[in-house]
Amino acid sequence: MVTLHWKDLWGELRARIPDDCYLGGSHVTRVVGTDTTTPGLVLDDGSQHDFDLVMFADGYTSVGRSQLFPDSTLEYRGYVLWRGLLPESQVADPRPLEDRLYRFSLPRLHGNGVFYLVPGEDGSIAVGERYVNWAHYVPVSPEDLRDFLIDKDGQHHATSLPPGGMRPDAEAELKELLVEHLPPYFAELTSITDGTFAQPIYTYLPAAYRRGRVCLIGDAGSVVPPFTGSGVFKASKNAIDLGAAIAAAEDLDQALEKWSDTETETAHRLAALGDQMEQAFVWAAPDLGTMSAGEARAWWTDSISFPEGFTYIAAQDQR
Ligand SMILES: Cc1cc2nc3c(=O)[nH]c(=O)nc-3n(C[C@H](O)[C@H](O)[C@H](O)COP(=O)(O)OP(=O)(O)OC[C@H]3O[C@@H](n4cnc5c(N)ncnc54)[C@H](O)[C@@H]3O)c2cc1C
Repeated sequence: MVTLHWKDLWGELRARIPDDCYLGGSHVTRVVGTDTTTPGLVLDDGSQHDFDLVMFADGYTSVGRSQLFPDSTLEYRGYVLWRGLLPESQVADPRPLEDRLYRFSLPRLHGNGVFYLVPGEDGSIAVGERYVNWAHYVPVSPEDLRDFLIDKDGQHHATSLPPGGMRPDAEAELKELLVEHLPPYFAELTSITDGTFAQPIYTYLPAAYRRGRVCLIGDAGSVVPPFTGSGVFKASKNAIDLGAAIAAAEDLDQALEKWSDTETETAHRLAALGDQMEQAFVWAAPDLGTMSAGEARAWWTDSISFPEGFTYIAAQDQR
């Protein structure tokens, strides 16, 4: 597993875009001319900009997707990712976290959680300056989701609750629940974290990645259950594959069609893996703490059967 700081990732990508091509703060409201060879983007100031090729990389609530495929809807999976970032300086003894990623199943509860260290605010990885990043997948029924997304000021959020936005009663309730189920060290990390935030988990499976000369990239194109850890990989692979397909082809429309078919198939395969992992980690998670290494390995190989040979278990540990 490779961990990256979002700020570094964004900075590296942004540095490759010339300033005069980057309209920061502009919002695309719609795409026009999707069935022509020069589709156009309309911005919130009313201006229209025409291109040979348009790529929407506008995330899981994509404006582009909703216009290309008006019937597309996100599917809520019945659980949210509740997250916290705790400054390492507030942890009495951070040593157990060093070079480890802990994943917990929660006996008697659906869901699971992870804890690991990430770089600090300025990217520092010095001891004492990092953050403990934790995340718990917690079921919230579709009926309760609307209430869950009301913040501490009574505002309803359509997609996620931002850091510090959760209602104190909702945050306290989750902390109480988790403290009851986690080992004391990790229960403490969870309960002392301020400003937690949450994101409902959705999926979207595409029929295609393009219409005409308008393409979808990343979460705009597909959203799979998060356990595959493939969000950034998928977004960058869509873009790299698109560049390669266009460079190799003589006919742009044929290249786009072929690219769309390949990316659609990959998304469906990723979703199939994500479904299995979601089932194993959220809805049918065993009490890993009571299992022997052999039992845990058997649970994993029985749970994840597609794609063939996929494993998290390092080669030396398989013996
Ligand atoms: C809590 C959480 C944890 C995650 N952890 C991981 C992880 O550990 N590893 C991993 O690989 N993936 C992770 N993901 C998934 C990952 O964040 C996404 O898959 C990835 O960011 C998708 O990239 P993207 O470029 O498609 O979309 P986004 O990163 O969502 O970017 C879309 C951009 O488009 C902009 N935008 C949206 N609408 C418009 C508009 N109309 N006009 C102009 N601009 C617009 C947005 O402001 C945003 O900057 C996580 C996701 C969440 C929610």
